[in-house]
Amino acid sequence: MSTFRFRALAETANRKPVAVEKLDRKSVIFGSNVFNDKAMRQFLTPDAYKAVQNAIQHGTKIDRNIAEYVAMGMKEWALNKGVTHYTHWFQPLTGTTAEKHDAFFETSFDGSDPVEKFGGTQLVQQEPDASSFPNGGIRNTFEARGYTAWDPTSPAFIYGTTLCIPTVFVSYTGEALDNKTPLLRALSVIDEAATDVAKYFDKNVKKVTPTLGWEQEYFLVDKALANARPDLMLTGRTLLGHTSAKGQQLEDHYFGSIPSRVLNYMRDLENECMLLGIPVKTRHNEVAPNQFELAPIFEETNLAVDHNSLLMDVMQKVAERHDYKVLFHEKPFKGVNGSGKHNNWSLATDTGVNLLSPGKTPMSNLQFLTFFINTIKAVHDYEELMRASIASASNDHRLGANEAPPAIISIFIGDQLTKVLAELEGVTKGKLSPEEKTDLKLNVVGKIPDLLLDNTDRNRTSPFAFTGNKFEFRAVGSTANCATSMTTLNAIVAKQLKDFKVEVDALIEKKDLKKDEAIFNVLREYIKTTKAILFEGDGYSDAWEIEAAKRGLSNHKTTPEALKAKVAKNALELFEGLNIMNHVEVEARYEIEVEEYVKKIQIEGRVLGDIARNHVIPTAIKYQNTLIENVKGLKEIFGKDFEGIAKEQIILIKEISEHIEGINSKVEAMIEERKKANKLTSVVEMADAYCNKVKPYFDEIRYHSDKLELLVDDEMWTLVKYRELLFVR
Ligand code: ADP
Ligand code: MG
Repeated sequence: MSTFRFRALAETANRKPVAVEKLDRKSVIFGSNVFNDKAMRQFLTPDAYKAVQNAIQHGTKIDRNIAEYVAMGMKEWALNKGVTHYTHWFQPLTGTTAEKHDAFFETSFDGSDPVEKFGGTQLVQQEPDASSFPNGGIRNTFEARGYTAWDPTSPAFIYGTTLCIPTVFVSYTGEALDNKTPLLRALSVIDEAATDVAKYFDKNVKKVTPTLGWEQEYFLVDKALANARPDLMLTGRTLLGHTSAKGQQLEDHYFGSIPSRVLNYMRDLENECMLLGIPVKTRHNEVAPNQFELAPIFEETNLAVDHNSLLMDVMQKVAERHDYKVLFHEKPFKGVNGSGKHNNWSLATDTGVNLLSPGKTPMSNLQFLTFFINTIKAVHDYEELMRASIASASNDHRLGANEAPPAIISIFIGDQLTKVLAELEGVTKGKLSPEEKTDLKLNVVGKIPDLLLDNTDRNRTSPFAFTGNKFEFRAVGSTANCATSMTTLNAIVAKQLKDFKVEVDALIEKKDLKKDEAIFNVLREYIKTTKAILFEGDGYSDAWEIEAAKRGLSNHKTTPEALKAKVAKNALELFEGLNIMNHVEVEARYEIEVEEYVKKIQIEGRVLGDIARNHVIPTAIKYQNTLIENVKGLKEIFGKDFEGIAKEQIILIKEISEHIEGINSKVEAMIEERKKANKLTSVVEMADAYCNKVKPYFDEIRYHSDKLELLVDDEMWTLVKYRELLFVR
């Protein structure tokens, strides 16, 4: 047998753990390839250093002359480390990262005066000539140009021999063409809004920083095996494949010891992360076989988003060295747990306080409750937008598929906080008596236990859960760029905090309430009006779907349906009102995402049709022929008695024919639907058609193919099987 599958399996048989370079201690090497504070102090003039620090902390602009000096220092630093090229590093709306490398090297046109050059202009701006990045019609053809501009809040880093400079990507008319620009705007708006509210509690607060700690789940599959599966290569998931006899039932993989080949991969990856300043901290097995998780120490959100994008790139590159392929897809294997990317989020003040952490005094607990309840209100008011922010063709396989958070957005807060909210609901309207105030502060707010952190119950079925001192947005997909969900979350909370401040100030001024009375009063109203979003039960249950519908919560199971909330009136007003995105920018993103959905399903349909016909059917026929030969032989030997003897073979021959017919007719029907869908002129209609008319055939085709996999001789089957993909380590 020398099919692709068996050659691939033979290749994996000789794999050994790949040796990993031994580096110095983590604390010593951390960030050594980053133009961080230490490097800046060493390589920048005091003026240039101050300017960059100001830009990072206060968002001030760096003037051109100073940029010249920054560029000089950066070049010096990079050349010392053997760097030859530089690139602006950005996140176009494809969701991945993009780069265009230019050499530092320059000469005159006659070849004289060779020199390494890199000036302020090159640092600050680059034209990636990127007319082929998706832009949702923002840039019209004669002006199909965007430029990238330096984001000093995310430090430059060296990867390989290239200096990478994180940048935003905007059109010449000023519209954002990337994921970073709206994120930076949202972060700045929530800083402003949260600082104003935090000042109720501490006048010294000058800045609030949203924090993000993501947890990245992924699968590792041997490179040779992955390459032998056209569906994995082209779509990131297996479109066919019968579940393995041993799956995850035993749960023996979860928190089990990490296989040594994998461990070496992780060590190598962690080395790279350390050099790049990505503070990865935990690594462990996940629920499914060959599934793992990696999590960092949380960081400022912009940096955390950049680090996650960079990490995904680095993970794939390091995997090459270890003969692995990383699968980031939310659902690479049917019947096996999928992957997510939990986004842990909180707000930190420049005075060192986590605003979502209960404190030791009643006042700090009131501060905690303020931010806690405002977040609940924000998610309540914009639940559909939150759902839309995590919608993608691949995440559709998780949400609502009874294993990951459901497609219904709800919030889990745990027993203790549920009780606290119930008590606060009883707060008197208007002025509070001194007794009531004391009671509230001592017995309700004052009693939020200091140890809440350790006591918080865990509810793994909730898409948005409070976990002691942060919220955890669990429904984010493993392939996602965190920028989308983080822009949305920070925007809605910013809007909510602004509204809150207006309400509280009005009560103080017009109703002559004390500050804390006013805050209690507004929070009480929020508690009353946002109950629908709180859910403590089993998010995977059918009962919850029924209950959620009664509560009026949305339950959009597919991306085309979910995405519509992005261009709903309240979303457009939200983003435009906060100057995060104008309606053109919002609509462009919607269009791009709908289009991306169509492309994804289109490709899956084509690949599925191809492998079903080119791999599965020919193999089935080959096996059927050997059965036919066998029956003919039996007939020769036994004459008219052969029918009893060859009974099973004859049944098998018929069964195989039925499944072949099943595949053929369903593939034909799917192609017909694709043709119809492609004729539609609106991309939104096209997405609906692909979702509701084309995609349903995938499961039907798969059904017949997976049956054939069980019938056909294992030696003949050409596609690498689940048990091989999942258990070869
Ligand atoms: P798990 O959710 O798996 O139990 P942890 O609760 O330890 O794990 O933390 C998960 C992630 O939450 C980590 O990446 C951590 O850095 C992040 N995290 C912890 N505190 C905060 C915070 N205040 N803001 C944002 N992320 C945080
Ligand atoms: Mg978690």
